[in-house]
Amino acid sequence: MSHNLIIIGSGPAGWTAAIYAARAELKPLLFEGSEPGGQLITTTDVENFPGFPEGVLGPELMEKCKTQAKRFGTEIISEVVDSVDFSTRPFKVTAKGETYEANSIIISTGASARRLGLESEKKLYGKGVSACATCDGFFFKGKNVIVVGGGDSAMEESGFLTKFASKVTIVHRRDAFRASKIMQERVLANPKIDVIWNSDVIDILGVEDGKVTGVRLKDMVTGEEREMPIDGVFAAIGHDPNTKMFQGKLEMDERGYLVTNPDSTATKIPGVFAAGDVQDSKYRQAITAAGTGCMAALEAERFLSEV
Ligand code: NAP
Repeated sequence: MSHNLIIIGSGPAGWTAAIYAARAELKPLLFEGSEPGGQLITTTDVENFPGFPEGVLGPELMEKCKTQAKRFGTEIISEVVDSVDFSTRPFKVTAKGETYEANSIIISTGASARRLGLESEKKLYGKGVSACATCDGFFFKGKNVIVVGGGDSAMEESGFLTKFASKVTIVHRRDAFRASKIMQERVLANPKIDVIWNSDVIDILGVEDGKVTGVRLKDMVTGEEREMPIDGVFAAIGHDPNTKMFQGKLEMDERGYLVTNPDSTATKIPGVFAAGDVQDSKYRQAITAAGTGCMAALEAERFLSEV
């Protein structure tokens, strides 16, 4: 059986697309993917989503979106899509050995946290190294941790970690944060947070012990190296789009983000749309992802009415 629309991914873009498409009676099929709810699942308070003056927890916001999408008839499949075939219509989407067909597709696979890329980071992942303070912060009660990065994520994660850790040190490779003013101010005013400027983490120590015991830092100005004892390392250095599956099938920019037409979510393949962080390296907000999810559903609806 061929469906009208398959939505791949379940962050704010995917759920918003599902709500709009379901209300247009397209009976969309949505694949939740490996991280249902996307990046908001690893966030605590979302304070800038309109309509929640007191803030809302990321997981709660996503659960509410899911309930809303279901209410209007979205069919949800809790699987990861393994491969896609967009060479002919109906398009094909394969998950767990089963192939699903649809006349239009919305890709909303989002982006994932970047890693430092160190061999020791791989070996100590889950043993003191993490990319998610909200998931793992609890394990660092009374300990000393570092957060690597200078963007909003690094500010947010540091603040969150002060609930557990006795001391949080932000290690940033430059002498200025790129985070928004309000978040920088909060961090700089927090007595439990210190900052080491102009420094890079070049190694994580403790592989022999099976747990993080420290880091080796390099001063980016003087080139000097030193060791710093630490219990935990949180990388908050940005994200990469989840587009591996679409390589060679859809146009991407040099960083791997899907390219869509100006003022549109349409890709170069008619009927295939992309919404949210997978196509947005600029704004990357929950609300902008939701906005492009809405656009994608409206564009898919128009496309389906014309074919
Ligand atoms: P980001 O803004 O891209 O910042 C990444 C940070 O990590 C930068 O400071 C960067 O340094 C540093 N970095 C990158 N690669 C590195 C490496 N290999 N080693 C050391 N440092 C490295 O990413 P983000 O903080 O995840 O934020 C992404 C988007 O989400 C932004 O638009 C942000 O506004 C949004 N966001 C919003 C909120 C909120 O409003 N509540 C919370 C989190 C995120 P440089 O500065 O030197 O490039």
